[in-house]
Amino acid sequence: MEEINVDLHSDTQTRPSPGMREAMAQAPVGDEQRGEDPSVNKLCEMAAELTGKESAVFMPSGTMCNQTSVLVHCQPGDEIIADKTSHLINSESGGAAALAGVQIKSINGKRGIFTAEQAENAVNMKKRNIPRTRMIEIEQTSNAGGGSIWPLERIREVAEIAEKFGLIMHMDGARMLNAAVASNITAADFAESFDSLWVDLSKGLGCPVGAVLCGSSDFIEKVWSWKMRLGGAMRQSGIVAAAGVYALENNVDRLADDHTLAKRFADNISGITGIELWPVETNLVFFDVKETGLTAKIFHERLLERGVRIGIKDEYEMRAVTHLDVDSAEIAQAADAVAQVAAAA
Ligand SMILES: *Cc1c(COP(=O)(O)O)cnc(C)c1O
Repeated sequence: MEEINVDLHSDTQTRPSPGMREAMAQAPVGDEQRGEDPSVNKLCEMAAELTGKESAVFMPSGTMCNQTSVLVHCQPGDEIIADKTSHLINSESGGAAALAGVQIKSINGKRGIFTAEQAENAVNMKKRNIPRTRMIEIEQTSNAGGGSIWPLERIREVAEIAEKFGLIMHMDGARMLNAAVASNITAADFAESFDSLWVDLSKGLGCPVGAVLCGSSDFIEKVWSWKMRLGGAMRQSGIVAAAGVYALENNVDRLADDHTLAKRFADNISGITGIELWPVETNLVFFDVKETGLTAKIFHERLLERGVRIGIKDEYEMRAVTHLDVDSAEIAQAADAVAQVAAAA
């Protein structure tokens, strides 16, 4: 494999910084399952405070946050409403069906974001032979939508539909803090309309693992049963939770730097013949390479030969992600590589 000098494959590529490693090394720890890990408890308190919820639980992954939420909120045979691009539908190994016996009705939103009218139209009639609609799931920011931000107003409109039909609102907030920083709206304001939501620590926040799921005390207590059942309960996990504490203290505001670099990268490649950009709202830059005559796969390989790794999203679609382990010189290098590959096509 070629040496990668600039890795824009994903914000999951971030590695814990020296400061974060130091915080981990110094972390007070205890038995998490018994509620005796001070670092885990601190992280959960911070997350609950940040999102304005009663309680929170530390989880090994965002996927487990989504899956346990579905398990708590839904009964087998229930239906969830989610955008067709959602991680819940496309990237969790069919977990909602396999674990909770739940089916998902996909909505054809725009860049991962649907309207209240679409949500309302997706709610099923109450009839014996029709699955019960139980939950609306939204993804903030929308990953496969290109890092697009659900506007607060739109969330509130969808929440009104949920209220009208007695549905649960759940947020996959893997990159919710990117949305908060980019739009200058607090995490608590974004979280307000939701019964449950979670934030990923292992993406732009730079932690090695983990996510925090937030909601009412009653909900979190029920999630704990599933966390135990699925083997997600840990012991001295404060050593990783301390990375989360460090990240919430040090790595949230700096997400704005990732957004600035994403916009710069987009600006740098916007003039290249054959490249068509999606709008850039946060740290994700999607672009179409079809008019260069290359597929995304070949474009990806030619970039790798130049030491730059950018993800393949679709046949002609590429996905570049800025994060705390890339700087402006590397962004310039990546943009040059894109120009060279396009020019040589
Ligand atoms: C990464 C991601 C997840 C899953 O998170 P993990 O911590 O990798 O399990 C879920 N939803 C979205 C939108 C993501 O980007």
